[in-house]
Amino acid sequence: DNRIHFFSSLDVIPKKVDSELLGIRGRQANEFAELGFPILPGFIINTQLASQLDKVDIKKDVKFLLEKCASIVGKKFGDPENPMLIKIVVSSNLAVSNYPTLHNFGLVRSVIPGFAKWVGETFAAHEVLFMVRGILKIEEQLASIVNDTEKLTTYKDLLAKLAKEIDSEHPAKSALEYMDFYGPYVPAEFFDSADNQLMITLRELSKLLSLDSQNDNDTALMIQPMVYGNYGKDSCSGAFFSRNIVTGEKKLQGEFYREKFNEIGATGQDIEKIGPEHLKQLQKIAWTLEDKFKEIRQIRFTVEKGKLWLIEQRPVDQKSTQADIKLLLDLAKRKIIDNTYVVKAIQPPRLNEILHPIIDPSAIKGLPKWSGGIAGAPGAAIGRVYFSTDALLEAHKVALQKNEDHRFILVMPATFADDVKAIEVATGVLSCEGGYSAHASVVARQYGKVSVVIPAMKIRGKKATIGDISFSEGDYITLNVPYYGDPTVYLGQAKLIEPDPSESGLLEFISIAKQFVNGFHVRANADSPRDANLALSFGAEGIGLCRTEHMFFHKDRINVFREMILSDSLEERSTVLEKLRPMQRDDFYGIFKAMAGKEVTIRLLDAPLHEFLPHNDEELAAFMTYLEKTKGKKPNKAELLARIEALAEFNPMLGHRGCRIAVSYPEIYAMQVKAIFEAAFKLRDEKIEVFPEIMVPIVMNANELKLIAFGKKIEGKNYHGIVDVEEEIRSELQKKPIPYRIGTMIELPAAALGAGEIAKYGQFFSFGTNDLTQTTLGISRDDFTSFMPDYTLFDLLEGNPFSTLDPRVKELIVMAVERGRMTRPDLVCGLCGEHGANPANVRFCIDAGLNYVSCSSYSVPIALLAVAQAEL
Ligand code: PEP
Ligand code: MG
Repeated sequence: DNRIHFFSSLDVIPKKVDSELLGIRGRQANEFAELGFPILPGFIINTQLASQLDKVDIKKDVKFLLEKCASIVGKKFGDPENPMLIKIVVSSNLAVSNYPTLHNFGLVRSVIPGFAKWVGETFAAHEVLFMVRGILKIEEQLASIVNDTEKLTTYKDLLAKLAKEIDSEHPAKSALEYMDFYGPYVPAEFFDSADNQLMITLRELSKLLSLDSQNDNDTALMIQPMVYGNYGKDSCSGAFFSRNIVTGEKKLQGEFYREKFNEIGATGQDIEKIGPEHLKQLQKIAWTLEDKFKEIRQIRFTVEKGKLWLIEQRPVDQKSTQADIKLLLDLAKRKIIDNTYVVKAIQPPRLNEILHPIIDPSAIKGLPKWSGGIAGAPGAAIGRVYFSTDALLEAHKVALQKNEDHRFILVMPATFADDVKAIEVATGVLSCEGGYSAHASVVARQYGKVSVVIPAMKIRGKKATIGDISFSEGDYITLNVPYYGDPTVYLGQAKLIEPDPSESGLLEFISIAKQFVNGFHVRANADSPRDANLALSFGAEGIGLCRTEHMFFHKDRINVFREMILSDSLEERSTVLEKLRPMQRDDFYGIFKAMAGKEVTIRLLDAPLHEFLPHNDEELAAFMTYLEKTKGKKPNKAELLARIEALAEFNPMLGHRGCRIAVSYPEIYAMQVKAIFEAAFKLRDEKIEVFPEIMVPIVMNANELKLIAFGKKIEGKNYHGIVDVEEEIRSELQKKPIPYRIGTMIELPAAALGAGEIAKYGQFFSFGTNDLTQTTLGISRDDFTSFMPDYTLFDLLEGNPFSTLDPRVKELIVMAVERGRMTRPDLVCGLCGEHGANPANVRFCIDAGLNYVSCSSYSVPIALLAVAQAEL
């Protein structure tokens, strides 16, 4: 019958046969025949014939083709000594088909003793059960289609019982006893002759296909011999990946099982040890499949009496980003794919996995855990828990001295400026207040540390409880914060796999992605030479936000800074500022130098003062000691407390911060501007190009920017603007001018609305979407998480507005860009809020006419990839 098609590794089904006739599985088998893979031979009763077997007699064809298969696998169908058994694959054109695959046909009474001689009695009995399950399933489905409820119940019960038998390691009956037991429920004479058994089964299947209203002549039947990895000596079975799914190393990864049918319950040996002949054959199969599918594949095979057969191959679910990148780079190098394919193939957030350590999945088994909370900064971290910055720093110092494990995790309700030094040395931070844009999260992301915010965590003294796990000071915990899915806290130590950007292929991948990025670019939010260098290696085209207040978080500086903000006279403040100036100059020098030739946006001080004041007695005591040392006399505690009190604000985020501080205390920005130019002049003398952009924060109207940038003379007071200070320091140092820009953050709705006017005084805008979101929606960036779950529950907001730009905020951005460019057509516009790191916002930023997004150094590769994909 020309509706039956034979294939083998040497016989390809001719092209003239419409491939739709073969169904998906049949097509696949034929494709592998085309590739010359050692597949089992077989034949396909095509979609036009498969449901007609009650009308057409194909017995002769089947007999002939079975003999052809038999001669290839070296057995005979129905042979009592060495029987060839077959499987029937229902090959539909639908991706999801609910027909069973049927195994071991040809297993009849007369062949049992012969078969058992090869594979053992127990295995033979099991195989009978598998075969019986196939025919019972057909009968069950037939009963269901014709609505024979009584029969349906009988078969359902039988199948449930049989499933249990299959699962048990030691079958209760022998192969022949099972045949006796199930005899009454299968078609007559089913166990008597191999030929009959097969024909009966094919006819029943055909009946099923013809009755199934959903089928519509769209299903073929594929018949193939079975082979067994437990068929005596020189037999084995195995399963492996085409390369290492964690590292991406091009080396088969998996195991084989000598004289075993499959891997279940068996201990295997490394696939590389299977012997040179078979290894070579398997490598060829694996790597041909990688080239064909352009991804890592999983392959199962069987060697029966020395002969290797490919059984199955499929995609792999749990492969690492690194493994995928390594594969893509390999394929691109060999010109199997082009760079466009490489760039498209990786979802940007997946890069998180190679930018941070990841958990070794084999090392978390059995550890008590709690999942949930908000991911502040992704990655995985292990460490001993400490509940305050001082305790952690002390433990860290001691551990270093004693050369002990110095991995620590900071656990606190919330963190402030003073805690940055602990976050810097810790591996992670666990807090309960705030969310993605809380202090702990922002700082952790910046330093590449892991952070989770768990509102459900209760901290009492030196003990924390989350759900039914709890841990105390000094206990080890492991944090796992995946980009997708819930963060998890494990009690105890797991194992980590550390990232290595050149080893992981990340750097090469970034350079490919960068080929697609021109015009719109990615900058970094960085405030140290270390971060700047990191950002540069990750492909950043400059710095979009250098938060100068972060430079004072350092433990040697915070008290100087405190002294400055608590000064009660201009004179006193100016003296302290002179102490800070060389520190700032050195900071800027390092950052400008790292970013040589690229724009560096320095944001003048924007310190919500509450973040910097002493928060507890210990901090206060340390500050007093500092004051005593610097001033040579004990400070008056009551006076000091009164001044701290006076600076306290009910709503510091809307308080005396940003440029408002500079309106009251111009000397602060003057100091910073001087430091910027001192550093810039010095570098130019060293022949290093610098391009400073000076940015003014929390501007609400044009008057503020005009004052701060260009100064103002009023009676009795002469306000020196940025341009004035630049001139002063330039003439003082006798230098020639350096090109620089003055610009502003747009982070208040008033500023967005007034952008046209503001652009008269600023050459660039940088959208501070953290504050812009906070002030547009009127939602505090630090307190939002307490009610966000309710908002999510009722679908009131699309996602977290502090991560995915809110539509109203977008509208303000679009409008501000338009109004700004009406005034100043060459206005440079960027975005530097946490939103810049989220690939979901990138398309919008490009369309809105922005020139760049700026995000933490560790997010630069992610944003770059998102931009490259958007530009494709
Ligand atoms: C912003 O508000 O988006 C911003 C970048 O500034 P900060 O987060 O420092 O307030
Ligand atoms: Mg801001």
